[in-house]
Order: sequence, then C-alpha cells, then structure tokens
Amino acid sequence: MLTKKTHFPLLAVLVFVAGSFTPLSLFAQEHRSPVAPREEKFKAVVNEAFEKFKNDTRGKNADYIPYLAQVDSKLFGIAAVTTDNRIYAIGDVDYSFSIQSISKVFTLALAMQELGAEEVFQKVGSEPTGRPFNSVVAVVDMPTHTGNPFVNAGAIATTSLISGKDAQGKWEKILAFYGKAAGEKLTLIEDVYKSEAATNAGNKALSMLLAKYDRIYADPLESVDIYTKQCSVGVTAKQLARMGAMLANNGINPATGEQVIRTEDIPHVLAAMTMAGLYDGSGGWAWRVGLPAKSGVGGGILAVAPGKGAIAVFAPPLDEAGNSVKAQEVINYVADQLDINLYSPGSVGLK
Ligand code: GLN
Repeated sequence: MLTKKTHFPLLAVLVFVAGSFTPLSLFAQEHRSPVAPREEKFKAVVNEAFEKFKNDTRGKNADYIPYLAQVDSKLFGIAAVTTDNRIYAIGDVDYSFSIQSISKVFTLALAMQELGAEEVFQKVGSEPTGRPFNSVVAVVDMPTHTGNPFVNAGAIATTSLISGKDAQGKWEKILAFYGKAAGEKLTLIEDVYKSEAATNAGNKALSMLLAKYDRIYADPLESVDIYTKQCSVGVTAKQLARMGAMLANNGINPATGEQVIRTEDIPHVLAAMTMAGLYDGSGGWAWRVGLPAKSGVGGGILAVAPGKGAIAVFAPPLDEAGNSVKAQEVINYVADQLDINLYSPGSVGLK
C-alpha cells in the first residue's frame, strides 16, 4: 500500500527519538515490509512502459465480432489505481471499450454473493482447460464440462446462476453490480452488443451443450443473451483499474468505501484469475508475471496486486490466445520493475 510510505518518516522519527532503545532489527524488518514503491518510482515505471511498448505493432484485433475488427488498433492506455485510490494514467485512458471477458470476474463474484462460494464451485468448477476460451472440445472432455468461470462455457453457466424476476431483471442486477465495482455507473455499448449478438452462434451452441450435461442453470439462450450484454459493457482503462483496485482492497471500492465483494470471496476470485485469466496463456503468464489477471478480446487486461492496487491496460491487438499483446508486455514490465510478482520473495518484503 502506498499509504504505508507516509508512515515511514514517522517511524524514522520514532526510531530516532527512541534512540538506542529500539532494536535495529525491528527497524530493518519494517524497512523490508511489503510497502508499495514510492510514488515517483511508480509513475516513472508506468510512463516508461508506455514509451517502451507504444510502437509495438504485433498482434491483431479480434475480428470474429465485427465491431472489434474496426476499433483503432493504435489505441493504447495504461491506468493504475492503488488501494488508497491514487490513480496514474497515461494514453487513451478515457476511451470506452467493451469489457468482454473481464466481465466474467465480476459476474463470478456476484454469483458467489448470491449462492456462496462452495455452491458456485460445485456448479462451475475452477480447473484450467488448456484450450481456447470458446472450446467445444473442453466442454465434452472436462469432467465438470463447465471447466472454470472464465472460459465461455463456464462463464455462461455462471451468468445463468444470477437470479432475477426475468431476463431484464437479471441483466440490470449484473450491470448495477459492475457499476458498484467501478464506483460509477457503467453502460452497455449498444453497437458491440448488436454486433456480437448477430455472430454468437458458437456461444449458443456451447450453452445447449451445457444443457445436455445439466450444467446450465437457467434457460440456455436467455443466459447467452445476458452474457453477451455483460461482455458489451463499456469501460475505460481508468474505470477498469478502479474495479481491480477494489479486488486488491479486500472487496472495498477505494473510491466509494463500499464493500462490493465479500472479503472471503476475494481469494476465490483471484485464484480463478490465476488459473484461467488468460485462458491457455495462463500458465505462461503465471510463470513470467505472477499476478492474477483477466483479459478480454476487446483489448483490455486487468491485473491485481493484492493489498497494493491494480493496473488496467487497453490495446486492441491480440495474440493467438486472445490476449492483448501490448497489455501483457506493459504489465510484465511494471510487475518486474516494481517487484510485485506474488511469487517473488520481494513482493512480501523478503529480499
Ligand atoms: N464476448 C466474447 C465471447 O464470448 C468474450 C470472449 C473474450 O473476451 N475472451 O466470445
């Protein structure tokens, strides 16, 4: 947490006042504590990452959803929000893009709030599939069929768990929940929704296949429609980073102070992000970066550093697995420079 930094001079004064009564080892321990980097360092690293990768033209916009193929491939924005609600942003951070699969994180949290974590785990599971996000083969092969909440099959099943009077009521509940996560009202990008709804035969097929295995919990096609809407919600990199900072902050939105996700559900959300946040790229991501993250084919990736903050990067061109190329590079660079890889001893002050 960056705030801890502000306690540091106070600690130094206390040590000074206490003089020889304060064991040096105590000071050393505090010095090694897992505080976030200094503000100037943090800003500098974010700016460096932007400069370093802004001309990287690798990857290709998603085109199986026609709208996404037309989004300007050069758009590039980085936003980081700390758990004490400081924001660092550079580039196209006010451009509203479709949240796509990053929505799955928040619908999972809402499902756990409604049913409890164990029931959601029983109904959806959390095993990596090692297959593309829209895989039909995985549905057939996986013992649970749903796989996990972040591949399309498991995500549609998760959406089907959300209760409501009717489809409209369920959708409004989901959208309102995302708004609480962001700390401000979010809206549907109508054109994205129309474009995806006209081309989502694959997702409809997945939902019917799940029905065959009794692994979808409401009307399959209604569930796909709500899922398609949730994927078409517009977010800016800044809004997305704040949604992530809420995850980093034990489920409390640092801007509004509201408890959006129950604290006990946060580890499940972050674990699912680690296992499947970047689909069949998740293993490589954990190996190199070591932060729970979630990507979307709209070009966003959100990564969470628990207790510290979150970083959201938006850049449309994707790799083979459907993950933004520049976003992965930026987060990898920032995590490395700031030593916040969760599996690094440095991330908990043990260096
Ligand atoms: N709406 C997209 C789909 O269902 C989401 C996929 C993604 O972002 N990986 O195909």
